Amino acid sequence: MSIHNKNLLRALPSVDTLLNHSTDLIVQYGRDDVRDAIRAVLDQTRQQIIKDNDLLINEISLLSQVADYLLQQNTPSLREVINATGVIIHTNLGRAPLSKSALQAMQAVATGYSTLEYNLEQGTRGSRNQHLEDLLKQLTGAEAALVVNNNAAATVLALSALAHNKEVIVSRGQLVEIGGGFRVPEIMQQSGATLVEVGTTNRTRAADYRRAITEQTALLMHVHPSNFKQLGFIKETPLQELVHIAHEHGLIVLDDLGSGALIDTALYGLDHEPTVQESLAAGCDLVTFSGDKLLGGPQAGIILGRGDLIQQLKHHPLARAFRADKLCLAALYATLRHYRQGNALENIPIWQMITRPLTDIKAQAYEWAQMFNATVQPGESTVGGGSLPGATLPTYLLAINHPQPDVLTAQLRQLSPPIIARITANHVVFDPRTILPEQTTLFTQLLKGIIL
Ligand SMILES: *Cc1c(COP(=O)(O)O)cnc(C)c1O
Repeated sequence: MSIHNKNLLRALPSVDTLLNHSTDLIVQYGRDDVRDAIRAVLDQTRQQIIKDNDLLINEISLLSQVADYLLQQNTPSLREVINATGVIIHTNLGRAPLSKSALQAMQAVATGYSTLEYNLEQGTRGSRNQHLEDLLKQLTGAEAALVVNNNAAATVLALSALAHNKEVIVSRGQLVEIGGGFRVPEIMQQSGATLVEVGTTNRTRAADYRRAITEQTALLMHVHPSNFKQLGFIKETPLQELVHIAHEHGLIVLDDLGSGALIDTALYGLDHEPTVQESLAAGCDLVTFSGDKLLGGPQAGIILGRGDLIQQLKHHPLARAFRADKLCLAALYATLRHYRQGNALENIPIWQMITRPLTDIKAQAYEWAQMFNATVQPGESTVGGGSLPGATLPTYLLAINHPQPDVLTAQLRQLSPPIIARITANHVVFDPRTILPEQTTLFTQLLKGIIL
């Protein structure tokens, strides 16, 4: 180490000196956090001095590093991002963004007391299940409904309550893994049910189910293979036929729908995703699906079906462990109201994105391209969230040419809020479809800071 560097080390201010000059930071972050930050910055600086020559160090630059360090340390790791990927229900980016009215509903019950488990008419204890049941029944024609924490919980609850120590028959083509650890055979095991596999990976016939039914059978389970697609020599037994077989034997059909669309996606240029109404109309005794996939609401597991079965589920001890919280119930109610009012497409963000006119997207992409001296590429948006695998919507992408596109995407992730973009060849591309209307100004401002 040079003499110069030794002198620099010696000249570093003490922790206390810096602390004494950090009054504003102490007000904002508290003394302990500021002291830790000062120590960390001084440590870093010492390392740098040992490695580098020509460092310019003064108290002001150190204090500004302390402020940066504190800001970084105190940024929550769970925070808003701008989703420019074109994946509408992006599981890693929090699935469905909520509607304005869902947010208002959450706010109303979040910061005060509520009727969560209170019966206003009688002035006595009420049930948290009551808030959504009527609306769900009206929307779908189901006899009864129950909302739990998520769809994984919904299936575990249904299997635990109805098939514990019994057999459940599932087609080999439906023994799926959804991701994040949800695998049908493991869910089955966890619920204390014995899995009876029938058919083959690509073909399962009605006769396969019939042959597998024993005294021990509790139910036939149908799982929507939501995140992959089989092609070629394939056959699954239609739901109606499954219901027919089950009911002949006094058995239950449980349908894990996954996404659980209430609106037919085929009307909007996508493949047909099985709807909740279809599944109930086919005669399924219980149907489960997520709240934050094609429904466009908060994380939730929705269980619909026969009143006596839902009653059994409500009374199972796991129902307490899996119960939905008040914020979820409030947001889900507001989301479902949009379907009832017939304005889901206009108000629920994922449906706004799915139905956004291509001309609109194209105009937005060209506006941005001009702004950034970039180009526009035709591309594809996807629904994502384990829904409609392979199905895409045509889109137009803002494409920024960059010698090292991965360097640019990394820079974009450093922004506040971060922008998540895609790379195609030597371009970084941005899909206007998934950038929320209220984020567009921020998006262009942030991008300008990096590119222009
Ligand atoms: C997504 C999905 C699940 C899991 O739902 P969560 O709400 O994420 O718990 C279960 N089954 C199917 C078929 C799915 O698509």
